[in-house]
Amino acid sequence: PTDLNKLADEYLRLAYHGLRAKDKSFNASMETDFDTAVGIVDVIPQDIGRVLLNLVTNAFHAVTERKKHHPGEYDPRVTVKSRRTDEGAEIQVIDNGGGIPETIREKIFQPFFTTKPTGEGTGLGLSMSYDIISKGHGGELTMETAEGEGTVFKIILPVKKERT
Ligand code: ADP
Ligand code: MG
Repeated sequence: PTDLNKLADEYLRLAYHGLRAKDKSFNASMETDFDTAVGIVDVIPQDIGRVLLNLVTNAFHAVTERKKHHPGEYDPRVTVKSRRTDEGAEIQVIDNGGGIPETIREKIFQPFFTTKPTGEGTGLGLSMSYDIISKGHGGELTMETAEGEGTVFKIILPVKKERT
């Protein structure tokens, strides 16, 4: 049993401080918006942690890249939200980066697909994340994106017991 909000908060901070330690000029806002009704969920915390770390790292990368091309009035931001719905516990990782071009949207969940320079990306993050959420937890991992606006990755984890 895992406190999903706490886990999400930990991994958001882990990613942020990790990137900051590697690159002193790294700068982006992080925001959280947690629904306390998400509560305690039966998951494999290390696995969900890996998924969160990858999604959040991808998001920070996207906003950092966008900032390189829009110096000035752009405020790079990564937000992690949680929500309890009829379908289960939902976590959204939201960035206001450049979005994912239509031509590659179908490929991003494939193993080894990356647009990052050699040595920077393995292209395994999203395929691994997809397997952990779907096969490992019986959940769903989906993506919505708009070029020039940003990207949202949504994790839905089934919750067995009704809580009051
Ligand atoms: P990697 O991070 O090693 O490249 P991933 O499987 O995590 O591998 O992601 C695959 C590709 O999907 C990335 O290289 C990038 O092109 C795209 N991508 C993933 N997340 C985002 C995002 N939040 N914004 C824009 N592009 C993204
Ligand atoms: Mg990645």
